Amino acid sequence: MAIVEDEKSEVFLLQLYHQVEMTEDILVPGGILIIKDPYLKLTADGRHGLRVDHVSDAVFLLAHDRRVPSCWHSELTNPQLKSADFWKTKGKEFLVNQDIRPQLNIFDVGSLLIRQSGSRGRGLFTTKAVKTGDLMFCEKAFAYAFHEGEGTSGDSSRLTMNLLIDINANSFTSGAQPELITMLVRKLYRNPSQTSAVKGLHCGSYSPVQGTFDIIDGMPVIDSFLLTRILLLNSFGCKFPEKAGALKRPVGIDRLGNVFPSLGLWTFASHMHHSCLSNAFCSFIGDMTIVRAIADIPVDAEITIQYLNPFNPQRQQKYIINWAFACDCAMCEDDDHTSDIVIAKRKRLGESLQQLLRLLSRRGGSSGTAGIASLIRKSSDLLAEMEETYIKPTEEVPRLTLWVGYRDFACALTLTGAGLSSNAQKAIEIGLKALRCLRFVIESGSLGSNQGLVVKKWGYMAPGELDCWICLKTAYDCTGSHELALAAEGCAKVCCRIQLGEAETFQ
Ligand SMILES: [Zn+2]
Repeated sequence: MAIVEDEKSEVFLLQLYHQVEMTEDILVPGGILIIKDPYLKLTADGRHGLRVDHVSDAVFLLAHDRRVPSCWHSELTNPQLKSADFWKTKGKEFLVNQDIRPQLNIFDVGSLLIRQSGSRGRGLFTTKAVKTGDLMFCEKAFAYAFHEGEGTSGDSSRLTMNLLIDINANSFTSGAQPELITMLVRKLYRNPSQTSAVKGLHCGSYSPVQGTFDIIDGMPVIDSFLLTRILLLNSFGCKFPEKAGALKRPVGIDRLGNVFPSLGLWTFASHMHHSCLSNAFCSFIGDMTIVRAIADIPVDAEITIQYLNPFNPQRQQKYIINWAFACDCAMCEDDDHTSDIVIAKRKRLGESLQQLLRLLSRRGGSSGTAGIASLIRKSSDLLAEMEETYIKPTEEVPRLTLWVGYRDFACALTLTGAGLSSNAQKAIEIGLKALRCLRFVIESGSLGSNQGLVVKKWGYMAPGELDCWICLKTAYDCTGSHELALAAEGCAKVCCRIQLGEAETFQ
């Protein structure tokens, strides 16, 4: 609400509804706006006021707009009404004076190309070969909603929760998603030149209204339902790395039930198709996505990422419902051919193993080495039994449940084995086995072989992989094999760069 005045100096109370930027002070002193079809309404105090219900009925003018009445030209002193060019020049001056140089290529797409990928629509392809860990591109988000979570600020006035109720889809969403939709609507409405960035993005079976994004009365026609669909199908949840998870970061939950703190739309990155056995990985620093290769990729190959965590047993249904495709990768096919009995057996063995590992970690500091030896033997037996449940060779299909078991075993041994070289030796053997479960091809790496540690082929990028490399490094150090420890640290850095976006903070 504000008091406004027209060219004839008549004063009214103005009420604006549904403006996209309700949180900002849009009615600034000295600001000028056109009201289409002004509607006078009786106000609570018995007088009359102007009421604007439709967002496009209020047209905000900049100081230099030719529609500004001539009688107001001399009064235009409000700094907020300066032109875009004015602020652009001002920004450039700041940049030059403060000598701020970009540290990354913001949009380095020299080695990539968007083109048709069979029946799947447009995809992203390499134009030159890339190596594991190589940076393929960085992209700033087109729109980005940071979800702060509940009860984190301590300030009760900030505990707001956005809810999006979709009657057509019979679903509701909370957290960052509704916020992101509003942000995108606002951005495109205010910046018609930017609509081309979202125009061709996949919107599933939705048919946009005719004339969407056309300029009518100087503003684009915005189809909110279209943008909602585009976001549902193209946005990325930016999961904080596990490293940050320990800091109890606030989290949000996306519509698929995945836990994500924030959500964004990266229009270039959204061209990447899905594969469970993907060759690229997206990490996030703020609203920047950093996409790196997780395999050696030849020229003219399609770049793929994982849309959902392959540990998620319902992922196939979600691919069909949300993106209208069924994943036919070796891993999904293997899942189809694995009976529920086998899955239950792996789960049961995994749970028994976790019990043993808890005991192992607890006894680590005590002197009962005989007890520890027995726990190690029992754990090895359980893992050997789990290994029996797999049929396909690891070169074809990563063994995810087994990987988790071996990784946790290696970590428990490393913690227990501080100073105990026999445990460290076992940790190395188990740690290497864990990585081989993920299709890693590692040459040597065993103690006393004098061949060093060489990763011939990088495997599947799984959560907790960084932990495994750090355990290996620690275990090598415990046995006095410092060269091998250095090699393991090098691999840990590559892994860190891929999973966290950078290795500068590795230490
Ligand atoms: Zn798959």
